[in-house]
Amino acid sequence: MNRLRLYIYRSILNKINDTGLSLKLEYRFGLIDTDGSPKTCRFCGGKDFREQITDRIEGMVLEKNSFCSKCNSICGYWVTGAWMP
Ligand SMILES: [Zn+2]
Repeated sequence: MNRLRLYIYRSILNKINDTGLSLKLEYRFGLIDTDGSPKTCRFCGGKDFREQITDRIEGMVLEKNSFCSKCNSICGYWVTGAWMP
C-alpha cells in the first residue's frame, strides 16, 4: 500500500465511528485479513509483524499484541482467540 492510499484510508476512518464499518474498510484496504489479523501496517505500510505475548495462563496464550517490524506501532490486539478491532 502506498502513502496516498494510507492517507485516503486515514481520512475516511477519522470520519466514521462505526466499528463494523471501519473493519470492512480495513479489510477492503488490505490492512487486515479475514480473521482480523494485521496484514499491512496502517501507519507505514509495512508487511512484517512480530507478536508479543502479554498474558498467559498455564502456558496458554490469553493476550498478545502485534507490532509492525518497521515502525514498531501496535497493529493488532488479540484476546483469547480473536483479533480485536
Ligand atoms: Zn509500520
